[in-house]
Amino acid sequence: MDIKSRIREIENFPKEGINFKDITTLLKDSDYFKYAVDKMVADLKDKNIDYVVGPEARGFLMGAAVAYALGVGFIPVRKPGKLPAATANIEYELEYGVDSLEIHVDAIEEGHKIAIVDDLLATGGTVQAVAKLIERLGGKVEAMEFLIELEFLNGRDKLSEYHINSLVKY
Ligand code: IMP
Repeated sequence: MDIKSRIREIENFPKEGINFKDITTLLKDSDYFKYAVDKMVADLKDKNIDYVVGPEARGFLMGAAVAYALGVGFIPVRKPGKLPAATANIEYELEYGVDSLEIHVDAIEEGHKIAIVDDLLATGGTVQAVAKLIERLGGKVEAMEFLIELEFLNGRDKLSEYHINSLVKY
């Protein structure tokens, strides 16, 4: 199955010069959605994963489905102020400025094996911040799963210590 055939590209979204990869067209296609989830699950099967962590917002969509299919729980990472209980927070660099992400402090315990699932790997800044949050709570990042990898942004360079699986590359 050709996953790229179900990914829609939108020129100049959300701003000029960006060719946005829209995964809503893949999620809508039941056969392709299942295929993508199953590919990630196959890569994670032998890794004894305890939890899937997914960052807001598209990481929720793929991550929760992968967690369900793998038979493990799902933990959300969110923008500041969205999670109701006590949180740990991390700031990370964007192209212009900084952003931050939060996780519930009691979501992960020492030694838990974690898979991070998101829709897309670009510069790697987001997933690197998520990994640091997990590690700060004592978790071990066993794998990073992405539907899409933008290879020309070299996100893997800053993630060389991690196992990374991406289903399609641009
Ligand atoms: P990074 O931090 O530069 O690796 O950017 C990855 C994050 O930005 C992910 O959470 C993606 O959801 C989001 N993102 C960046 N570009 C796109 C895109 O073209 N389509 C969908 N999401 C994107």
